[in-house]
Amino acid sequence: MEAFEAVIGLEVHVQLATRAKVFARVAQGFGAPPNTLTDPVVMGLPGALPVINGEAVRQAVRAGLVFKSTIPEVCLWDRKNYFYPDSPKNYQITQYASPVCVGGEVEIELPGPSRNAMGEHRVVRLTRAHLEEDVGKLTHGAGDSLVDYNRAGTPLLEIVSEPDLRSAEEALAFLQALRMLLTAAGVSTCDMEKGQMRCDANVSVRPRGSDVLNSRAEMKNLNSITGVRNAIDYEIRRQSKVYARGGTVVQETRRWDAAAGRTTSMRGKEEAHDYRYFPDPDLLPVRFPRDELARLEADLPERVFDKQRRYQETLGLPYTVTSVLCFDHELAAFFEAALEAYPANAKGIANYVANEFQRERAAAAGEGLLPMAGVKMRPAHVAELVRLVDEGVVTKQNAKTVFVECFAGGRAPSELVEALGLKHEPADTGELEAACREVMAANPVPAAQFREGNAKAINAYMGPLMKATKGKADPRAAMEILARLASEAE
Ligand code: ADP
Ligand code: MG
Repeated sequence: MEAFEAVIGLEVHVQLATRAKVFARVAQGFGAPPNTLTDPVVMGLPGALPVINGEAVRQAVRAGLVFKSTIPEVCLWDRKNYFYPDSPKNYQITQYASPVCVGGEVEIELPGPSRNAMGEHRVVRLTRAHLEEDVGKLTHGAGDSLVDYNRAGTPLLEIVSEPDLRSAEEALAFLQALRMLLTAAGVSTCDMEKGQMRCDANVSVRPRGSDVLNSRAEMKNLNSITGVRNAIDYEIRRQSKVYARGGTVVQETRRWDAAAGRTTSMRGKEEAHDYRYFPDPDLLPVRFPRDELARLEADLPERVFDKQRRYQETLGLPYTVTSVLCFDHELAAFFEAALEAYPANAKGIANYVANEFQRERAAAAGEGLLPMAGVKMRPAHVAELVRLVDEGVVTKQNAKTVFVECFAGGRAPSELVEALGLKHEPADTGELEAACREVMAANPVPAAQFREGNAKAINAYMGPLMKATKGKADPRAAMEILARLASEAE
């Protein structure tokens, strides 16, 4: 099986965050009572005319800018004709000839050698991204089927990748990158469980090293991460076996059967001409003003991996910390607000946000993390606490207690330090000096090295000193005393 490599292209449908539907003035939403979010346009009643929602176009353009796509000045609407009971019009309004976004790319990170190590980065090319309307939802009962049109007419962005992916892992990395980019830009919440992100996977295999594009199987509507992974892995194995036996793979649409853990043939793959695409006569072309394009571009958020590189390179933060911070844009924003309040110690702040803060969020939630909106601790609190530690007002150890209390109740760290009686009283320097003399007498070598010009040599005394003072020695005061004693010695 090693003789074959997989070729995968994804078509990802993402629901856009807009107040209204894409062609009707009806709210879009999740969880409303069935068939309450409809109107004559959504229902496709005779005489009802669609009107494009400008917010949906702006969201699509914003996505395109994130992907570095070309945004043509004009885009057009087409009808894709097919009958399906969850679509009342017998056609879907989509973009075929002239989509809103052309080309583009998405940077992905492949899994590294371990969870804590950076993986390889690659760029996946996009073919295009176009706007279209979502369909309703069928629920099949024992003797009947029910249809809910609430979802019909929700704006969707279909993002089509080039066949640049080579494994299920890469496909998942692509989906993860899309989710991070689009949530940060406020384009979509990309929640797969709520159906806000769905994916069709196109899979073919070929002899390793070849560059032919063989017939592919298309698996439609994969709506969970495990579904995507298992369907692709199954399909790669299946097609490899077919070729290994000397058979041929037919171009077709296959269904992923999660319960049985396999794909089954649904139908021959439809071609574009089967849909009888033609320009929708009810809708005008959309001309997207260039000055608005420039305005959207100007307030685009930093792309996730650019942010991560900046954190590593200019703030000197390690990979593990940057991936916790950057892969959740709300957390990154919290970190940056704290850093702005106290720019002197990026590492200190980053550690609290990536570790203690996330730990407390997890502890406060039944499962997953407490949503940021429910967190009482403010970025300024983290900044203040790190400053208090740096200034020696509270020890690192006690700062953890202050952190937990601050997270729980939202009281300022300076107040908590007083209220909890945790203000650090520097030890009597006489006592500290005596302890320094003792550890130095026990081992004169580092002091001698210090005198010979190795300033760091006296660090060797900190361990024994902490042991002797049961951790109470103030490191800064101790270093001063050690340096003085070492240079005075002999
Ligand atoms: P459709 O599926 O609607 O007919 P396209 O021809 O644009 O549309 O292809 C859709 C997807 O299939 C794209 O993501 C593309 O990268 C992928 N694809 C095309 N050819 C292959 C192939 N031989 N193997 C795997 N994926 C492919
Ligand atoms: Mg397709």
